[in-house]
Amino acid sequence: MTSKIFQEYNLKLSEEIIAKVKDAADIVDVIGETVNLRRRGQNYLGLCPFHNEKTPSFTVSANKGIYKCFGCGKGGNVFTFLTDKFGMSFIEAIESLAAKYHVELPKDEQGITPKDSKRSQIYDALEKTEALYNSLLKNKDGKIAYDYFKGRGFDDELIEKFRLGYSPDDWNFITKTLSSSGISIDILEEAGVVIKSDKGNYFDRFRSRAIFPIHDFMGRVIGFGGRSLTDDKNSAKYINSPQTLVYDKSKVLFGIYEAKNSIRNKQYSILTEGYADVISLHAAGFTNSIASSGTSLTQDQLRELKRFAPKLYIAYDGDSAGQEAAERAGEMALQFNFEVFIVKIAEDDDPDSIIQKYGAEKFEQLIHSAIDFFDFKITRLKSGFKSESAGEITAAVREMTKITASIPDEMKHDFYIRKISESFNLTFSQVELLYKEKEQIRKKTRADESNRNEQNQAVKKATETIIDQNESQLLSIDDIFYEEKLVLSYALLGLNEFSDLMEHFEIGTETFATDVAKLIFKVIQDNSTNDDILGTIINSEYVPNEYKDIIITISIKDEVGSENWELKFGRTEFKANMKKVITDCLMKLEKRKVDESLIQVMNLMKKEPEEIEHLKRFQQLKEQAMKLNNSLMGIPN
Ligand SMILES: [Zn+2]
Repeated sequence: MTSKIFQEYNLKLSEEIIAKVKDAADIVDVIGETVNLRRRGQNYLGLCPFHNEKTPSFTVSANKGIYKCFGCGKGGNVFTFLTDKFGMSFIEAIESLAAKYHVELPKDEQGITPKDSKRSQIYDALEKTEALYNSLLKNKDGKIAYDYFKGRGFDDELIEKFRLGYSPDDWNFITKTLSSSGISIDILEEAGVVIKSDKGNYFDRFRSRAIFPIHDFMGRVIGFGGRSLTDDKNSAKYINSPQTLVYDKSKVLFGIYEAKNSIRNKQYSILTEGYADVISLHAAGFTNSIASSGTSLTQDQLRELKRFAPKLYIAYDGDSAGQEAAERAGEMALQFNFEVFIVKIAEDDDPDSIIQKYGAEKFEQLIHSAIDFFDFKITRLKSGFKSESAGEITAAVREMTKITASIPDEMKHDFYIRKISESFNLTFSQVELLYKEKEQIRKKTRADESNRNEQNQAVKKATETIIDQNESQLLSIDDIFYEEKLVLSYALLGLNEFSDLMEHFEIGTETFATDVAKLIFKVIQDNSTNDDILGTIINSEYVPNEYKDIIITISIKDEVGSENWELKFGRTEFKANMKKVITDCLMKLEKRKVDESLIQVMNLMKKEPEEIEHLKRFQQLKEQAMKLNNSLMGIPN
């Protein structure tokens, strides 16, 4: 079966290729780049990247290659993770995984893809630009940039790690080199490396600059920062790529790809203001450094960072602009439940200059003596006092209680109220009074938000009902009997043994008792043309999401479950016991149907006591039920 996406792209990516990429890609590894996963039995568990939660309900099954959040319901496989989380197209997800896991895509497919997906073309253009700039560093032309990097203490290894480069003093270097290699000028413009003048001429954006490529968390280049190498006062010190289809500066942290493993290991990150700070810190061994490049820190960036570590050290420039920015960044980070510390940098220094002037040890000391953000903020407020009047103090306390109320973890609130009262020589209850004011406002805002959400949900529900009155309303996994779920989960494994049993027991939609189970079984049958039924269903454009959700839940649950069946058969013996389990399930389902029929016949007998056929049928069913009961003895419910 060829799905709609492939037709659109005029691609013939075979199911075989998709399966190959999926098998090569380790879902725990891929999702693990974004979510901190811990092993829990057969599965992995972490905080859901699709909704805010404090206790993990995001489950990943390595065996099945799927994930499911039992909080918000999001579920899928390694491809949907990339499409849903990072907005990639299906093709891009395949391509990026194929590249990462060294699966070679057939030539004609590779050739077709870039032509058809604009995003792929842009990625391609950026990658080639990066390679060009990087190669120039080793040339005579690039010596000026190479010397600049060396002068900052970046060795060759670091230059390679960050893929640093040089853009020559040439208005048409990229324009000429890349468009003659087959990349269209429009794509170069859309990639942000080429600018179109009012007169319609094209010229290079970056000229005579030291180039800092910006990578996304997967390591793909998405933009560039360029530092001026001339003394020209008219030339900006730094220029950056514009927003493009693949580069949204409010969402990207400079250095995240290079720093993420280290952040995870050290459990904290060091946030700086610039490219040079990040690389200097990496050079000095602080490999967990990142920067909010080209913009002040955003909520999206913090959300991203929070997935790697709960502690944040802010190391902004020591000047007043830097300290003000640090104040804003810290307040925002508290709202994401970070533990925030401020690295004290002297007035005319920044992390880069500290490393250059005093070396790594000095910075290590600064990290050790970093102050809690709360204390930093209080000190700043106090230093602004002119008279320490009651008005000034109240205003400051109000501000601090507002910050306290914004911290999601309410367990911390008492601690901070105490801290505020001690700092301003007030009693706990005086501060608490002001805190409660803020807390009420906050709670009201939250309530308003959740009301709005509920209203949206209601509207959404209503629309869905109109669109699909029969199905989306009826489909619920809770309506499926446990025996049915077990049979369905075996069916989803796509094993030959199951096909044999299916034939043997004549399993079909009629085997199932509930309508939902019947529908789900039909979907499974329709998609069982190859081994990876689960993957085929998840990737299919034709299977509605409600079905997919149920199917993913059934699949992942057979390893999570805590029901009696598992107690008896044990998880690891799930496959081995298939025949026995299915036999028992079918009997139990049969019993359910017989019981149901018995009730119906008994009702009929009440209505038409003279009808002898009812009585015959009743006796027949009763006998059947007895037999089934005997066979079912000893089988757990
Ligand atoms: Zn979720």
